Amino acid sequence: MKFGTKAIHAGVHPDPETGAIMTPIYQTSTYVQAAPGNNKGYEYARTANPTRTQLQDSLAALENGKYGICFSSGMGAIDAVIKLLNPGDHVIAVNDIYGGSYRLFTKTFQRFGIEFTFTSFDDPASVEALIKKNTRLLWIETPTNPLLQIADIEVYSAMARKHNVISVVDNTFASPYLQNPLDLGAHIVMHSMTKYLGGHSDVVAGGLVTSDDTLAEELKFNQKSTGATPGPQDCFLLLRGIKTLHLRMQRHSENGRTVADFLAAHPAVDKVFYPGLSSHKGHEIAKKQMRDFGGMMSFTLKNDSMEAALKILSGTELFSLAESLGGVESLIGHPASMTHASIPKAEREKVGVTDSLIRLSVGVEDIDDLLADLTHALKQIN
Ligand SMILES: *Cc1c(COP(=O)(O)O)cnc(C)c1O
Repeated sequence: MKFGTKAIHAGVHPDPETGAIMTPIYQTSTYVQAAPGNNKGYEYARTANPTRTQLQDSLAALENGKYGICFSSGMGAIDAVIKLLNPGDHVIAVNDIYGGSYRLFTKTFQRFGIEFTFTSFDDPASVEALIKKNTRLLWIETPTNPLLQIADIEVYSAMARKHNVISVVDNTFASPYLQNPLDLGAHIVMHSMTKYLGGHSDVVAGGLVTSDDTLAEELKFNQKSTGATPGPQDCFLLLRGIKTLHLRMQRHSENGRTVADFLAAHPAVDKVFYPGLSSHKGHEIAKKQMRDFGGMMSFTLKNDSMEAALKILSGTELFSLAESLGGVESLIGHPASMTHASIPKAEREKVGVTDSLIRLSVGVEDIDDLLADLTHALKQIN
């Protein structure tokens, strides 16, 4: 089955009782058993729910994996992965990792004796040099937020296997439509399903996919034991969103490319960070491992000041000022004062988050309206 067909059909089936074509919302906490232990595979809804089962099977199919495991948020999924480890274990993670992941690693898991090293994934040899005897996991995110940095999934997955280390890819920015890390050798792929998979800014959820039987067993154990499981209503919304993932991602990518080209040619704009541009330092790797380049990008202004950035943020109408990404509607954000506000200016500038850096999640609206909106906003600083 090709991707678009899988998005609509894989993992789901009509309701056996009524023929309902859409997966029912099984709003139940428990299941009646004919005799103790004689059940249809469902005993208690934290462990399993039929709406969630279909979502998990659908996600697994989209990532070409054997097992899908879903959570009440992306963070819940990440938590289940790190709980594969023991005190004394060491993790190497990409340094411009999602802020929530950084917080969970350093504020929570570090307290439980897990050690984290954050580094650039630009140069594989220097990452390999950081692998120690107790290194157990490589945390890869590509493209990253907000600078859309690219890590070579195939290279890092092979490095992990060579050193007997688990490789995990946070694939949230790409979605399974653009990139399939398991095909490139990764052990586990992780999604904030809140973003492109849900796609309509109406649900918070997370997911993991793996083809490794042992890892799947342990991750399912963590899902059930911690209990960060999504409710059936949320699973239904995700199943509904996934049916149009390929259509949305095509348009996100088309619009993304056009907006990136427009910004790159605009006299008020300094740099544009979009993996689809040949000027982007990760472009060649992105071209190799992604089918297209999606709708996420960031850019800086020649007038590199907070004031100029704030004028643009208040100057757009269609691009709404908000956190999150991946929904049908276009969003605009300012990392220096929003997601990265707690990081001292000198520190954030070292990683490229300068005062005028603006992030866009380009939606699926009509491109002419999006360009007109940005043209109008950029006039505010001329
Ligand atoms: C949003 C996001 C997360 C966290 O997911 P939640 O669903 O918000 O818990 C993790 N990684 C990336 C890249 C994200 O964008």
